[in-house]
Amino acid sequence: MNFEDIIGQDRAVRFLRRAYEKNRVPHALLYTGIPGIGKRTTALAFASLLQCRSAKGTVACGICPSCKKIDSGNHPDLVFVEPSGAFIKIEQIRALRNEFALKPFEGNRRIAIIADAHTMNPEAANTLLKILEEPPKGAFMILTAHQVSDLLPTIVSRCQHIAFAPLSSELIAEKLVTKRKSGRQVADIAAVWAQGSLGMALQADLKKVAQERNQLIEQFETLSLNKMHSLLGFAESLSKDKDNLLNNLEMLKVWIRDILFGKLCPKKILNKDLVEKIEEFSQRYSVSSLLAKIKILQGAQVAAQKGRNRRLVLEVMLIRLCQE
Ligand SMILES: [Zn+2]
Repeated sequence: MNFEDIIGQDRAVRFLRRAYEKNRVPHALLYTGIPGIGKRTTALAFASLLQCRSAKGTVACGICPSCKKIDSGNHPDLVFVEPSGAFIKIEQIRALRNEFALKPFEGNRRIAIIADAHTMNPEAANTLLKILEEPPKGAFMILTAHQVSDLLPTIVSRCQHIAFAPLSSELIAEKLVTKRKSGRQVADIAAVWAQGSLGMALQADLKKVAQERNQLIEQFETLSLNKMHSLLGFAESLSKDKDNLLNNLEMLKVWIRDILFGKLCPKKILNKDLVEKIEEFSQRYSVSSLLAKIKILQGAQVAAQKGRNRRLVLEVMLIRLCQE
């Protein structure tokens, strides 16, 4: 595992390389960002570098016993903590504390990667806070989480925070073509759907995503205030598909965005396979109406993320979109 294996997180990697070169590695790091953008891979790469016995510059050698043990997941000085079920429990953090009390087996550092630290229950979080307040000698921690606001502020303030950015849809599409041997058209659609998460795109059933996008847009474009029954039905089916709700809203937003770009700059259309349809739609709406629609969708995305009454949020969103 090496920094070279990390895709699209140049800023984070630059920061880590610099800290390592200057010998200013803080005792705790916090990586935040949506799932599937390389937080865990970067944590492992940095752990490899810190433990490697013959690193060249900021590149772990990949062949020393330490690198090999990390790659195979059994380095005695690397502890991996992740949710057991839905939460990271206090027993897990207590076990970590006990591990940290031991001297390093091989090098001079013991490293813990605490993945999805936002799933710690309050007892676990408070126990971790104590470790962070008085880190044992040689202890080094990397926490990963979705967003800073999901963690205790006292935990955040004890860590050096690095924000991981969502990847561009161009980069994701490219990786789908090279890694999954996907056709470019399907890759472009899935890249929009994945909302910046390469991990999600790589795991997705690409053909299904493309089919669902087509259905989504088809249904969306037939909505009208004169057919409230089907509008409410559409809101209901969106709200029931909870796991895909944010992706579906993103696809609708990109669809409207594309119609706007159909008017302003057709080259920048993301749903490239639908260019003709998009240009036809772009004749129907004004720029200001399309901008208003995008705003409505963004508002719904925020409300849906906060877990507000999904069905009502979607009903209001669709009615307002039809009014524009
Ligand atoms: Zn090595």
